[in-house]
Amino acid sequence: MHDSHVHSIFSDDGMEAVEDVAGKAVALGCDYVAITDHLNRDYKILGYDNPELNLSAYLGEMQRFKSRYADKIRLATGIELGYMKSANSLYMKDLRGKNFDVIINSVHCVLGSEVYFAEYFNKCPYKHFAYLEYLKAVRESLDAPYDYDIVGHIGYIQRNAPYKEPDMYYDEFAEIFDDILRTIVKKDKCLEVNSKTYRGAQKSSDFARRHLSVPDVDVLRRYRELGGNKISFGSDAHRADNLCYNYDAVAKAMKDIGFKGFTRYYNRKPELVKF
Ligand SMILES: [Zn+2]
Ligand SMILES: [Zn+2]
Repeated sequence: MHDSHVHSIFSDDGMEAVEDVAGKAVALGCDYVAITDHLNRDYKILGYDNPELNLSAYLGEMQRFKSRYADKIRLATGIELGYMKSANSLYMKDLRGKNFDVIINSVHCVLGSEVYFAEYFNKCPYKHFAYLEYLKAVRESLDAPYDYDIVGHIGYIQRNAPYKEPDMYYDEFAEIFDDILRTIVKKDKCLEVNSKTYRGAQKSSDFARRHLSVPDVDVLRRYRELGGNKISFGSDAHRADNLCYNYDAVAKAMKDIGFKGFTRYYNRKPELVKF
């Protein structure tokens, strides 16, 4: 097992010290874990008062733990950028001269609001509008001028959506999904399979199948059809107990779709871990 999307105490919403994440990963038998703490210039621009990542302290700490754990596990130094067009130049500056192993580009903020908060949905007249605006932002994020490896958690908006039926169906948004998936293939990026968003929700077998990950299996199947072969596994754990959440079930579903394995990054280079 391995995990390409994990948070530590360096994220404002993270709960675990880097060594506790690494220790848990070793205990689970992982040979690789990427710590990908949040760098949220989007939050700062929008005026959210979450504490910001201390980038140099984070990089220093990761360097120390990398060598300390070198004989037990490969610790990758990652970062999760909160994409927003007006933050592009800040991220360009942040990334310059830094040696990350893996960079995740994620959309959290759309129309000036974090889509986890009710304020976003209050701005939207109905569900289709809210989701389409989110997907347009995801499409835009693919053209970010900075270099990134993984497209984070497409479908994150469903997590806290106030709708009775929050699912985002491929069929309803086929045109923009195809544009997004084709662009990921064309740019040779990696699509994240994020096992967190619907964690714990298992009302029926069909519900469980659909909600194994974001994006869901229908989107992932379409990605494969369009020539996509790079997918990463990310639990998006904010506490060590959720590391590698549902890895086996997600891996099996991806194998059934026809993917050869998960791709992970070290020193910004992709490596395929076959199923
Ligand atoms: Zn995220
Ligand atoms: Zn995350």
